[in-house]
Amino acid sequence: MKGQSQKPGKGFYQLMQTYESARIQTAARAVGVAQGAFELAIKYSKERYQFERPISEFQLIRAKLAKMMTYIEAARQLTYYACRMKDSGKRCDLEAGMAKLFAAEMVEYVTSEAMQIFGGYGYSKEYEIERYWRDGRLFRIFEGTSEIQEEVIAKRLLEIY
Ligand SMILES: Cc1cc2nc3c(=O)[nH]c(=O)nc-3n(C[C@H](O)[C@H](O)[C@H](O)COP(=O)(O)OP(=O)(O)OC[C@H]3O[C@@H](n4cnc5c(N)ncnc54)[C@H](O)[C@@H]3O)c2cc1C
Repeated sequence: MKGQSQKPGKGFYQLMQTYESARIQTAARAVGVAQGAFELAIKYSKERYQFERPISEFQLIRAKLAKMMTYIEAARQLTYYACRMKDSGKRCDLEAGMAKLFAAEMVEYVTSEAMQIFGGYGYSKEYEIERYWRDGRLFRIFEGTSEIQEEVIAKRLLEIY
C-alpha cells in the first residue's frame, strides 16, 4: 500500500478503498455498541420487578428482546459479508455501504429499545444505557451519513442492474 500511495493518479482509487474499510469497521462498531446495550437490557429485565415479577416475563418486553437481537444478528452477518468481500480484494463499496447503513439504523433502534426497557432509569446519566443511546445515534452521522450511504448504494445498484 505504501508503494501504491506514491503512484501518481491512484489517489482517488485508494481513497475509495479506504472508505470501504472505514465503513465496514464502523458497521462492526455499531454491532458492538448494540450488543453491549442489549446485554445490559436483558440483564436488567431479569432484575427489575414490577407487579411481583421480573419485567422479562412481560410479553411486550420479550418481543423487544427478540427483535433487538434479530436486528443485531442481521447487521452482524451483513458486516461479515462485507468483510469477506473486502478480504477477497473485490470492489465492495456496495456491500460496505449496505453494512454501514443497516448497522447505523439498527444501533439507533436497539439502543433506544434498551433505554425503553430501563424505563426512567434509562434516561438518567447514572446508568450506562444513556451513553449507549447517545453513541448509537452517532452512527447515522459519522463515517458518511446514512443519506450518503443511500446515495452510494443506489449509484452502484444502477450501474449493476
Ligand atoms: C462525534 C463525531 C465524530 C466525528 N469524527 C470524524 C472524524 O474522525 N473524521 C472526519 O472526517 N469527520 C468526523 N466527523 C464529522 C462527520 O463525518 C460529519 O459530521 C458528517 O460527515 C456530516 O457532515 P456535516 O456535519 O457537515 O453535515 P452536512 O454535510 O451539512 O449534512 C447535513 C445533512 O444533509 C445531508 N446531506 C448532505 N449532503 C447530501 C447529499 N448530497 N445528498 C443528500 N443528503 C445530503 C446529510 O446526510 C445530513 O443529513 C465526526 C462527527 C461527529 C459528530
